[in-house]
Amino acid sequence: MASDIHQLLKTYFGYETFRSPQQEIIEHTLNQQDSLIIMPTGGGKSLCYQLPALAMEGLTLVISPLIALMQDQVDALQANGIAAAALNSSNTSSEIEQIKSQIAERTLKLLYISPERAVSPAFINYIKSKKINFIAIDEAHCVSIWGNDFRQEYTRLPELMQHFPKVPYMALTATADRATQTDIAEKLALRNPQKFLSSFERKNLHLQVQPAIQRLHFIKDYVVQRKEECGIIYCLSRKSTEKISSALCEVDIKAAYYHAAMSSDERSRVQQAFQQDEIKVICATIAFGMGIDKSNIRYVLHFNLPKNIESYYQEIGRAGRDGLPSDTILFFSFQDAQILRQFIDESTADESFKIVQRSKLNRMLEFGQASSCRTNMVLSYFGEHRSEACGHCDNCLNPPEHFDGTVITQKALSAIKRLDENVAINLLVDVLRGSERKEIVTQRYDQIKTFGAGKDISREDWLSYIGQMINQGLVEIDFTEYNKLKVTHIGEQVLFEAQKVKLSKPAQVTVQGKAEKSKTATFEDALFNHLKDVRRNLARHEDVPAYVIFNDSTLQEMVNERPMYLSDMASISGVGKHKLEKYGDIFLDAIQSFVLKESTPKNIKGKTYLETYTLLREGHSPEEIAGKRALNLVTIYSHIAYLYEKGEAVDISSYIADDEINEIAVAWRKIGKPDTLKDLFGYMEEKYPYYKLRLAISFIKRG
Ligand code: ADP
Ligand code: MG
Ligand code: ZN
Repeated sequence: MASDIHQLLKTYFGYETFRSPQQEIIEHTLNQQDSLIIMPTGGGKSLCYQLPALAMEGLTLVISPLIALMQDQVDALQANGIAAAALNSSNTSSEIEQIKSQIAERTLKLLYISPERAVSPAFINYIKSKKINFIAIDEAHCVSIWGNDFRQEYTRLPELMQHFPKVPYMALTATADRATQTDIAEKLALRNPQKFLSSFERKNLHLQVQPAIQRLHFIKDYVVQRKEECGIIYCLSRKSTEKISSALCEVDIKAAYYHAAMSSDERSRVQQAFQQDEIKVICATIAFGMGIDKSNIRYVLHFNLPKNIESYYQEIGRAGRDGLPSDTILFFSFQDAQILRQFIDESTADESFKIVQRSKLNRMLEFGQASSCRTNMVLSYFGEHRSEACGHCDNCLNPPEHFDGTVITQKALSAIKRLDENVAINLLVDVLRGSERKEIVTQRYDQIKTFGAGKDISREDWLSYIGQMINQGLVEIDFTEYNKLKVTHIGEQVLFEAQKVKLSKPAQVTVQGKAEKSKTATFEDALFNHLKDVRRNLARHEDVPAYVIFNDSTLQEMVNERPMYLSDMASISGVGKHKLEKYGDIFLDAIQSFVLKESTPKNIKGKTYLETYTLLREGHSPEEIAGKRALNLVTIYSHIAYLYEKGEAVDISSYIADDEINEIAVAWRKIGKPDTLKDLFGYMEEKYPYYKLRLAISFIKRG
């Protein structure tokens, strides 16, 4: 069985291996058992039901709550040559007829359906006589009132399921704490389900937090450096989304905004243009995202503080679904915390709900000001405890340097006291830095003893230090009174009893982010962009999201491997049989013509080999090629050896005999497989010319 599912994985999806729990889950389902799957966004849940659907006879039902998501999945499946369809309120009657006839002919493999339709008597009546092999319930947390997004219709799903008592059920979610997990299993009446929990760590996401200073300026620089990449910028207000988007458009970025006050036509236009890579950057309120399954989002920026860690993690989770390194940057400010707190206070919800929301916001604040591994903070928030550091957050990569901050802290605490604990953080920093702005002069704050006592420290650093003081419990923010700062009891010990305080140096913030960019665009970047253009044109033509054709990691692998033949193309991850037939030649052509045309004359991996290769295939001898290309013969032989080593269909037997290869191989191994040929040449007493040595070694290496 294992080999069958591997074969299906390769043939239909073009992948070589399963991600960690996928294989177990699939086998479990093929053994007719129920399962509950908790995997992070981008973890690869879809494959867990799509693959058994292919391995089993009959039709698989997939319950999914969002029409846009369904359509994207169906597009993606069809692009892989899998018969799939979606039934929801947007179908025309002829589409419905077509789906029904595919079901009658037993050709359809997967049917996506919205929960409201799935539980309608008409559908149940229709489907109950059909051969259903199993039922997958995506976004299963919707069944629980404890979850993030309760939907009444989900609770009625057992009405459908009871008609198929013999098939396995699979419930999948990316967000469910312990209570919700149990609730899902109960509400869906799963039968002794096996729970598959995979870690919530997203290793390809770089987590970074920085003070919300000159955000817009930073964002402009940041985005301009990655013009070709797609990203989302989340904002609290509609106005900010419009402001940032127009600032980006001014510097020639294809940006757009997205918020709930736009017409639904306008919103779906923007969303679709983003899916097809025509718009690169979306500046959005949190209204944007639920229907987004785009795999090549390279960064998610939070212009404002998210309201809790669940939202934060779900939003950044939209980056890097294709597994490539992606940036996430959160701009942190206490003002945002104040605004969010006001939202809670002013909402009409009952007090117990507000208490929970406030404490969630506090955890978000702690996260923003943390000086230890941020990933671990998130994991522990979701109940996963781990002590080793993640290595892909800002605090891990640039561990804060600690120093004796007693004097700095005393200055701040003393200023707070002298200002009668009557000011918020920004004003405090201005006083410490000796600003003479109007409010300070009229309030006579410039007269206090600590006025200007912290001139030598930048505004940014002060904000960080005061944040650390808050975290260490030396200072408190009075959220009920304009965020005024108060010195706590522990703070007083520092102020009056000279208790020592450790602070850490704020990390140097650079526009580089993590998914590091070199300043000059390389040949590889240019080829990558070229392939993206090819993909975009195909996507537009076929009216599907760009990543449905191939996702970024597949294109990147093409850039690295530079396939020359369809057989090379087939070994690229993400190129299944169907896509190979449909797009293989188009992308091969695109790669080869680009490599040949690219005018940069030197140091391009591949180009010189390709020229030799082309001439060789036209039937020229190495001598002729050397003449035509004005290169020496040894160079041409080294090209041939290289091509052979890379697995090209080059026949080297006309240049070197088998027993010569064997003799050279023995000698080469004997002297420890040196990298240069000189030692080998000497060791063999100059018996063979360099080019033969080179050819023999390429033969050994090709294996
Ligand atoms: P989820 O539903 O858990 O958020 P998806 O099912 O959308 O995640 O998968 C995210 C991405 O991972 C998709 O682009 C998918 O093609 C890719 N993927 C899934 N499984 C594998 C695998 N075994 N090898 C390579 N890529 C995979
Ligand atoms: Mg999914
Ligand atoms: Zn970390």
